[in-house]
Amino acid sequence: MTAPIVRFAPSPTGRIHVGNVRTALVNWLFAQGQAGKFVLRIDDTDLERSTKESEEILKADLTWLGLTWAETFNQSERFAIYDKAADKLRAMGLLYPAYETAEELDVKRKIAQSRGRPPVYDRAALSLTDADRAGLEASGLKPHWRFKLSGARVEWNDLVRGPQSIDTSSVSDPVLIREDGSYLYTLPSVVDDIEASITHVVRGEDHVTNSGAQIEIFMALGGKAPEMAHMPLLVGADGSALSKRIGSLSVGQLREQGIEAMAILSYLAKLGTSDNIEPRSSVTELAAEFSFSKIGRAPARFDEADLENLNAALVHAMPFAEAQARLKDIDPHADNEAFWLAVRENCARVSDAANWAQTVFGAPSPDIAAEDKDFIAGAAAHLPAGELTTASWSEWTNALKAATGRKGKGLFMPLRKALTGMEHGPDMGAVLALIGRAKVLERLG
Ligand code: GLU
Repeated sequence: MTAPIVRFAPSPTGRIHVGNVRTALVNWLFAQGQAGKFVLRIDDTDLERSTKESEEILKADLTWLGLTWAETFNQSERFAIYDKAADKLRAMGLLYPAYETAEELDVKRKIAQSRGRPPVYDRAALSLTDADRAGLEASGLKPHWRFKLSGARVEWNDLVRGPQSIDTSSVSDPVLIREDGSYLYTLPSVVDDIEASITHVVRGEDHVTNSGAQIEIFMALGGKAPEMAHMPLLVGADGSALSKRIGSLSVGQLREQGIEAMAILSYLAKLGTSDNIEPRSSVTELAAEFSFSKIGRAPARFDEADLENLNAALVHAMPFAEAQARLKDIDPHADNEAFWLAVRENCARVSDAANWAQTVFGAPSPDIAAEDKDFIAGAAAHLPAGELTTASWSEWTNALKAATGRKGKGLFMPLRKALTGMEHGPDMGAVLALIGRAKVLERLG
């Protein structure tokens, strides 16, 4: 196989949500795994809804995720090219003007349905004469332009869905250009895919029907259609349509919540595939494991709790170098490898280290039960001499055990609570050394 060229083609009308990220990721992983090229196409033909700000945020989100692109371009700069393609289709008799209003089309659909027929456009506009058209235009009507489907079956072997067949006689001739001259997505996408030599179109299964028409447009304009892969959509954890909240869960929101890029990518790369969902520390690893054949046909269930768990697993094993920049922002004391290694397993997010920095380096209130008062008051006397190290805790507790007869929970818990104010937390050997002698003595009272 020659190296694939794929594209991710978002519309810059808001922040990218988890569904888009999955499409971007699958394209990216496929390209990366085959030494191919990933192109970022900005689908901003809808000049009213698209904004530069959304485009910038989108690019920042993809960059943060590590999904970098070899090339990017905007559809809004290419209208002249689409006009040429439209002219070509007109010359081939494949793009025809139609004048029905939205209301008229609606009535036609309802009539067809009431007669038990599929609501397919009846092609009345094809029988208009030149004089009819001139008359309609003189009355102020502007045409929209429809692509004339062949009426034959369009077939392709979808990399995810297997053999596909769309009967184009059961689909309306798609409108490619609106009355105001603006383009719907269908034609520009094909024109760009041909020009960028896209070898594989990878997108959500909501585009399967479009593919029937688009393959015919590919054939008309370029002679050949790319390979196609349509992925099942994401649904909520309960199998229902992805809830509004999760469906619109943006990368920005997840990032602000402290979810790691690799948690999002590890989760979305494996969701709905035959592989287990496990944390991975790099996109390259995910690329090596990627194959279209692993993607199932059932809708993939997106469960935020699974994403959280994956995130926690990544944080628990995160090397200091990766957390360091953020730890610095959290607390100057937290920029400390021994600290991070001691607390990371108690963090579900890197930002949780802030609380532990307070516990270790700040001034937590000691929690000393009445029955432990004497024990705690006497404990300082047994603290090993000199600077405290990670070995000091066991030395200290052994000495206390010998001196007081306390053991197990009765020995360790009062010390933990006195030193940290909490019943749970990181390994006390590490914590004791990090707190340091002076503060330990202070907290023991
Ligand atoms: N802009 C289109 C969308 O977001 C692109 C679809 C495609 O990949 O062809 O749905």
